[in-house]
Amino acid sequence: MNYPAEPYRIKSIESISLLSREERIKKIHQAGYNTFLLSSQDIYIDLLTDSGTNAMSDKQWASMMTGDEAYSGSQNFELLKKTAQHLFGFKYIVPTHQGRAAENLLSLITIKPGQYVAGNMYFTTTRFHIEKNGATFIDVINDDAHDAMSNVPFKGNIDLDKLKQLIEEKGAENIAYICLAITVNLAGGQPVSMQNMRDVKALCEKHHIRVFYDATRCVENAYFIKEQEAGYQDVSIKEIVHEMFSYADGCTMSGKKDCLVNIGGFLALNNQQLFEQACEWVVAYEGMPSYGGMTGRDMSAMAIGMQEAMQFEYIQHRILQVRYLGNKLKAANIPIIEPIGGHAVFLDAKHFCPHLTQEQLPAQSLATRIYLETGVRTIERGTVSAGRDKITKKNYFPKLETVRLTIPRRVYTYAHLDFVADGIIALYQQKETIQGLKFTYEPKQLRFFTARFAYI
Ligand SMILES: *Cc1c(COP(=O)(O)O)cnc(C)c1O
Repeated sequence: MNYPAEPYRIKSIESISLLSREERIKKIHQAGYNTFLLSSQDIYIDLLTDSGTNAMSDKQWASMMTGDEAYSGSQNFELLKKTAQHLFGFKYIVPTHQGRAAENLLSLITIKPGQYVAGNMYFTTTRFHIEKNGATFIDVINDDAHDAMSNVPFKGNIDLDKLKQLIEEKGAENIAYICLAITVNLAGGQPVSMQNMRDVKALCEKHHIRVFYDATRCVENAYFIKEQEAGYQDVSIKEIVHEMFSYADGCTMSGKKDCLVNIGGFLALNNQQLFEQACEWVVAYEGMPSYGGMTGRDMSAMAIGMQEAMQFEYIQHRILQVRYLGNKLKAANIPIIEPIGGHAVFLDAKHFCPHLTQEQLPAQSLATRIYLETGVRTIERGTVSAGRDKITKKNYFPKLETVRLTIPRRVYTYAHLDFVADGIIALYQQKETIQGLKFTYEPKQLRFFTARFAYI
């Protein structure tokens, strides 16, 4: 056996079934060739996202019966707050209904119109809130991150020279903050090294610029540090997580990822003034600062999920599951982004479909065809996700044109992953038959969620 067996056993099941090919052709057409618009019951294995698709433990489910649904001062918030403070080391916790709500609050309280926010690549909702509050987002990730073929460790690192140059050019006072994502979703789930976090903090401290983490996948990032960064082999995941956050002024967290729940999030801060401002906004957008859009039971499950996520056996199994799928595809010569990241395998759609130009939306075309051939749902992370330039109205054509196979936490077995790999390998044998797509409906904001397409 070349992989670790599941560190859990199954207590409750959910049945899934595969529609016929004829039915799948009909369903993807009805969905406007957008995998987001498929109905869940028409999907056999759902790798759209690892967001909120986590399987909870018996302990989390049991804790939900102890939900304290008081409008204010819920005991579950006390537990969540203490857990987050203890694990991450921040002074203040503002609960939100999910990660993007924390991004909204952070952007509201830190950005003055006309300023810049620099970060390692971008994330869709993060950039949306930054831009909505009048700042320009500047990508200062190292060049390797934009190169699907470059197989180097800690590909999510910020390029310190780029950051220094930006500070010089724009002036420190015009930089609202640095947004450091750990790991970098759109670069392929690539981690950031502890050394890079330390260096970014030192540079920013010198210039009085705040550093906020997008902490969504911080446990995955910690696993890579333990595995690959010198000096961390014998340090626990919990200690690594704590050290990572010691180099930040706060973070936004999507509980739907590394907190092992289906909904929830928070904003964490060290600065009291910012905390007070965030509390003023949270009541307008989310709810009282003691629930922020979550129920008491949600907060309870999240506090327990955060503790479970720190267990080495859990995170090792997760990362190695992703790696198993990636290595199986790679062994069949399928172009994937390397190194294989923390939460997903990313197919390199430019090389999978060399007969399509980027205008023909190769990643969107590949994602829809994978569903049609296998009943597996994946997601486009390429031109459609990147959107258009606000001023020129031209499409952004990102260097990375990918289809993401995202593995939900504690949900699928190795047999499911074999099914996925075999289906994609079979499609690769007839890849020239993948047809390009064009928009028939294009929303102005975050278009990938609800856009519709047709074959060219
Ligand atoms: C999911 C995600 C978010 C947004 O969180 P939601 O809970 O979906 O609102 C932000 N950043 C990254 C890197 C994410 O993966």
